[in-house]
Amino acid sequence: MRFDRLRLSGFKSFVEPTELLIRDGLTGVVGPNGCGKSNLLEALRWVMGESSPKSMRGGGMDDVIFAGTARRPARDFADVTLTIDNRSRRAAAQFNADDVLEVSRRIEREMGSAYRINGREARAKAVQLLFADAATGAHSPALVSQGRVAAIIAAKPVERRALLEEAAGISGLHVRRREAEIRLRAAEANLARLADVMAASE
Ligand code: ATP
Repeated sequence: MRFDRLRLSGFKSFVEPTELLIRDGLTGVVGPNGCGKSNLLEALRWVMGESSPKSMRGGGMDDVIFAGTARRPARDFADVTLTIDNRSRRAAAQFNADDVLEVSRRIEREMGSAYRINGREARAKAVQLLFADAATGAHSPALVSQGRVAAIIAAKPVERRALLEEAAGISGLHVRRREAEIRLRAAEANLARLADVMAASE
């Protein structure tokens, strides 16, 4: 699974539709301070399901929408689409029929975000799992933002274990286990209630 292309529109400083092609080998993004290099990396994390506005350097998620300048009005929505080459079939088995995956996220002011995988509506969790299963995601240690190296060096053992688990591609399994445990507890509560009802009717 490799990232092929990132498309942005109305996202932070990228008000016009913009496309970043990610070719084989190293892709460098160069430019003067404040031109939007970090915004590109944030767009990548955002489309992979980042849920914390703080880690997008904002107060609320709507802050990722182009806020306007002296000469241009603010936008009401932001859109980011990531095109993924899935010929290696690294994505979960449910995507085995797809050589190409297009994951998109759109946010409308005061309306929240909506995700799509290959044009079909998807839950945030499904998008996060898609990337977690492929050993990447919004919190992947492969995305090294400013100050992150120092944070990794100072990390507690349990935080380092999370990094290793993410690199090994098993963090998706933890999410599934947590969901299964919640369902199991709900089923146990239902069984206990059923036993009460049966005892009462005897
Ligand atoms: P540096 O090299 O200094 O780290 P950079 O190239 O990484 O800079 P970014 O931090 O990605 O730059 O971009 C910062 C720019 O993005 C600022 O000019 C800021 O005003 C602009 N920006 C951030 N959020 C928005 C928004 N919602 N609407 C419009 N512009 C925004």
